[in-house]
Amino acid sequence: MQELARYAIDLEDRGSETPSQGFELATGSALWRSVARICDRIADRLNPGQPNWYEGFDKFDLPATTFFNSHSLDLDDLTTFLAHGFALQGAHPDDYSMLNLLHEFASFGGVEAAFNAAECRISGGAQSLSIAIANTLGPALRLNWPVTRIAKTEEGVIVEGSAGQLVARQVIVALPLNVLRYLNLDIPLPAEAARVVAEGHVGRAAKGWVAATLSEPVESVGWPHAVEVYSRHGSRSYAVCTFAVAQPDHDNALADSCRALTIRHPDAVLHKERLSHDWIADPWSRGSWLSSAPGQMRGLHELADMPPPVLFAGGDLSRGWYGWMEGAVTSGRDASSRLMACTCDISAPPAKG
Ligand SMILES: Cc1cc2nc3c(=O)[nH]c(=O)nc-3n(C[C@H](O)[C@H](O)[C@H](O)COP(=O)(O)OP(=O)(O)OC[C@H]3O[C@@H](n4cnc5c(N)ncnc54)[C@H](O)[C@@H]3O)c2cc1C
Repeated sequence: MQELARYAIDLEDRGSETPSQGFELATGSALWRSVARICDRIADRLNPGQPNWYEGFDKFDLPATTFFNSHSLDLDDLTTFLAHGFALQGAHPDDYSMLNLLHEFASFGGVEAAFNAAECRISGGAQSLSIAIANTLGPALRLNWPVTRIAKTEEGVIVEGSAGQLVARQVIVALPLNVLRYLNLDIPLPAEAARVVAEGHVGRAAKGWVAATLSEPVESVGWPHAVEVYSRHGSRSYAVCTFAVAQPDHDNALADSCRALTIRHPDAVLHKERLSHDWIADPWSRGSWLSSAPGQMRGLHELADMPPPVLFAGGDLSRGWYGWMEGAVTSGRDASSRLMACTCDISAPPAKG
């Protein structure tokens, strides 16, 4: 909100949105509430404001499916957990760590708050903020300059790409985690950080819009197809948004979700106009927002904590809000203040953004 205010960017008027069905309608069983309470109790002990928040929680660093199966939830309750969990994780519960989901519960202030998280939409989309920041940079900003190599040398840090080479005293690498392994990174990394770079994270969400004729707005959750569904009214028709795990791939996941959507909302008539972007195939992202597999927490921290001259930042490496826009902003600010501390001959403080 501070960054938006700095550039005089507004939030979208919330009146145009489908009223949320809310948490109460989504579930209700006693067992569901008991598992939610267990998660709340663990999340209460976890301090997401602490950079090494994961220390001491190894026993929850297991696939989310394993955790939920151990609580013998029935299909409805399991569906509710997996669907709402997907909205936060954007990954398959066999792949993402329960500890990552518990971190989300802790950051939001509990299961109910996380599953019901209040949303703000940025006017013109989140890109408005990137454009506003870019506009302040003038010719220092070089677009269409893909980086292929970053090397720490005695002369400085070499940043190389198809458009040429730069030598810098210090560099902040703010690329998505999953593209790092495709670069020639000639920088000594701690073992766990190197492993996380090599593995990448497991976020693989497919999001798609389809134009539709609706008798009333739609909003629902389900599993495994059309995991999240909501609609927006445009000037000519409604548009319905669906999310799912991109498996077997992005296109097929969205096709399956559209079929599930028409079964769940039989009055909805879907049109041919569709819009989506395959973030997993995109060479500049190679995945959606960060979702960590079991065993990756320490490596992510090591990477975020790298000292100058090469710092790593971005939404994927935020300590408090990783995988979110919020984390992209706080991590960026933190990396720049760590770097500034070094230029003032103070050693870089630990990463905490
Ligand atoms: C479908 C989807 C829905 C989302 N929904 C939400 C949401 O509702 N709320 C929320 O808070 N967050 C959401 N996110 C997450 C949010 O978009 C990210 O957390 C945020 O964009 C991260 O910002 P960043 O600057 O760290 O990285 P990015 O925004 O990924 O920016 C990285 C930049 O690096 C560039 N790049 C990549 N490789 C190279 C290279 N080799 N050389 C040069 N440049 C390169 C990319 O082109 C990109 O411009 C969503 C993400 C996705 C994919």
